[in-house]
Amino acid sequence: MKFRTRLFLFYIIGIGLITILWASYFIHFEENRVRDSWREHELIQAKLVAANFTDGAQFQDPRKVSSTVARIAKVADGRITVVDTAGKVLGDSSEDYTKLPNHSDRPEIRAALFGRIGMIDRFSDTLKQRLIYVAYPLRMKGKIVGVVRIAKEESALSSLLLRLRIVIISGIIITAILTLIFGALIMRRLSEPILDLKGLALRISRGDLSARVRYFGDDEVAELGLAFNNMAEKLADSFSIIKDEKRKLEAILENLVDGILVIDSDLKIVLANRAAQDILGLSSSNIQGRPVLEVVLNHHLMNLIQEVNLSGQAFESELFLYYPDNKQIQVFLAPLKDDDGTLAGSIVVLNDLTKLRQLERVRQDFVANVSHELRTPITSVKAMAETLINGAWKDQAMLDRYLEAIDQESDRLSNLINDLLDLAKLDSNVEASKEPFDFIQLITEVQERFINTNSEKGLFALDLPDSDLPEVEANRDRIKQVLINLLDNAFKYTPPGGQVRLSVWLENGRIKVAVSDNGIGIPKEDLGRIFERFYRVDKARSREKGGTGLGLSIVKHIVESYGGKIEVESSLHQGSVFTFTLPIHQG
Ligand code: ADP
Repeated sequence: MKFRTRLFLFYIIGIGLITILWASYFIHFEENRVRDSWREHELIQAKLVAANFTDGAQFQDPRKVSSTVARIAKVADGRITVVDTAGKVLGDSSEDYTKLPNHSDRPEIRAALFGRIGMIDRFSDTLKQRLIYVAYPLRMKGKIVGVVRIAKEESALSSLLLRLRIVIISGIIITAILTLIFGALIMRRLSEPILDLKGLALRISRGDLSARVRYFGDDEVAELGLAFNNMAEKLADSFSIIKDEKRKLEAILENLVDGILVIDSDLKIVLANRAAQDILGLSSSNIQGRPVLEVVLNHHLMNLIQEVNLSGQAFESELFLYYPDNKQIQVFLAPLKDDDGTLAGSIVVLNDLTKLRQLERVRQDFVANVSHELRTPITSVKAMAETLINGAWKDQAMLDRYLEAIDQESDRLSNLINDLLDLAKLDSNVEASKEPFDFIQLITEVQERFINTNSEKGLFALDLPDSDLPEVEANRDRIKQVLINLLDNAFKYTPPGGQVRLSVWLENGRIKVAVSDNGIGIPKEDLGRIFERFYRVDKARSREKGGTGLGLSIVKHIVESYGGKIEVESSLHQGSVFTFTLPIHQG
């Protein structure tokens, strides 16, 4: 029930009770008062009648008595009876006194005969109705000689009392109604700020912290309103601090490279940041609240989580995940405890080591490859030098052959070292200076070098666009190196009589270059790996041609450093096409 309704109900009950009590008391009091004054009035009338009979002679003659009472009754509005001490009726204003019986048995007359004033309400056998009797002793010279009795219809008093009651009750009802209306208005006014406070409290509880009480004054309700406003302000401040902290924490968690998983004591997920979702292959929707068993599909990790939740101990471990892809991860697990120290769950930090481990492997492989590549020419140079020292130099033909071989091996060593230096430079991520340059001019430069050195191997064709090409924006030397490496490979792996073609065109705001040959081609299974360092389809052939196995990895590195992409299409014994893009100078 509403506060105002309840207040009003109490008020109505209160007013009702007071009204009833007050009305009953007042009616009772007034009725008694009216009744008493009625009797008093009758008594006075009886006394006045009695005053008419001070003369004994008059009293002796009943006819005179009768006419006197009849005369007075006309004015007095009631029945007047006079009896003597024996109860014999001497005169009556309403009936023929001669026909009336002896009245000595009437209680009021009996009382008057004893010298008292007889007052009684009773049924009149003569008039057949209830009457109010007042009997007054008639004295002459101090002696009771008879009784004067006045009788009035009780209905007259009753109707008077009824009118009185109606007036009192209607007065009280009108007062009560006015009091209720007035009370309702006051209550509305008093309860309004309280209802306002209630509304405010509801709005605050629903999260609207901008809600404020607009009730000013110096009463307790205004003070309460002020306290509410202060509370709302403090709550809003605290909320915004908490929200800020939460936002910061969320941003930190979301941008952490490490996966964070928070699990409650029922092994349900409380939180999983994006990295954790990526590592564990979870979709971001509806992870929260799900049992970790349904989500973490790794037996080893699940065991660790359960162990932390049971023992409350922190753990660290490295494990392999096979879903969604193969991953090597490092896990740190720590218990989460409540303020009172009870175990509330656990926090799991997932660190994806896959790339790190891969990189370590690549580095190890690289070192091994470099050592191997260096050792081969050095070993053969050393072997040939020792043979020569041991006397072979005396044989001219041998000397010539060995010196030529040593020269070749030195070239290979020099190539290898140059390529390694280039790679080291590219790996160091030191950006080479960029400048706009004319690509056609660069092609001409490179073309001359190949026409001169490879004229015997095959034809070199050039496809250039009809219109002018925009300038390329990159490091000229690096792009030159790309062209040289690709053309060098094309000539190296194309038998004599073949053809090497360099095509250039504009596509989607970039310059596209294709180096194609109709040489030995690359087997399909090797296509995906030829850009790896030291990867060669045919090691012997590559080495024989002075190849290091690093050329394509350098090319890829350079092209990608300019946001480009290198692609290869090849079929065995048909030839290969290497295509890449170059950025153009915007200006
Ligand atoms: P290399 O110094 O051995 O040529 P690259 O990195 O330049 O090293 O090339 C890697 C391998 O890719 C080569 O060993 C060769 O087997 C293959 N290859 C590269 N270009 C061609 C081509 N145009 N035709 C056929 N095979 C090629």
